[in-house]
Order: sequence, then structure tokens, then C-alpha cells
Amino acid sequence: MSYQIASDDQLISALKKVLKKHRTVTSQALLRTLVDKELNKGIESYGVHAERLRKLVVSENIATVEIHSREGDPKKSFAVCPVCGHPLKRVKNLTIWGGVVTIEFQCPSCGYWTGKKKQIPTRYVFHYRDSF
Ligand SMILES: [Zn+2]
Repeated sequence: MSYQIASDDQLISALKKVLKKHRTVTSQALLRTLVDKELNKGIESYGVHAERLRKLVVSENIATVEIHSREGDPKKSFAVCPVCGHPLKRVKNLTIWGGVVTIEFQCPSCGYWTGKKKQIPTRYVFHYRDSF
């Protein structure tokens, strides 16, 4: 019946609890389920999106995100990080031997990077930060 949108504060607090308890959460879907459980306590239903949680984890520095990816279409490029939405930084690498420049893109926020073959994230693993 009641369907609420959780605030950032609610989500951040739930994320901290869940990640502290579980230490490592092996997928984004699982993280969403755990946070939803933490928020609900069996009473209300929250519409929590996995992507919003992932971005909060990165921006709040709650956990490190291990990104598993596959190679995508090299012709397609990302303007923003597919993990956290931060604009990507263009990084040039000079190779020692041929002087060939390879371009990589890095995310200053979460550590995602991609080379010419675009890395498409397929799975995320969250590791709780002990120092938090
Ligand atoms: Zn990022």
C-alpha cells in the first residue's frame, strides 16, 4: 500500500549497516536486497534502485567497488563513468618503444578505467572500508 522513496540519509545509513555487517557483498542486486530489508523492517516498501545505491557507496566512500567487466564496442565511448556517473578523465600513455599513444579513460571518483576496448561493467563487488 504505502510506497516511499527513501532519502539519501536513510540509504547511506542502511548501506553502512549492511556493509559493516556483511563486509563483502558480491553483487549489486544482493546489495539492493539487503538494503531494502534493512530499510523496510517488514513494514513499508521502498523503491530502491541499485544504481542509486552504487553511486552513494562511491560518493560517500562507504565501500570499495570491485568492477567486473567485459569488453564492449571500441567505437562507443563513455562521456561519464558507467559506474558512478562522474565525468571521465582522459589519460594519455606514451609507450616506451614505439612512441604510440594509447588513450585511456579513468574515473577520478571510483577508480573505473577503460582502454580502447571499452570495458562494460557487468558485475560489482562491494568491500566495506574498515577505515570508515
Ligand atoms: Zn566512477
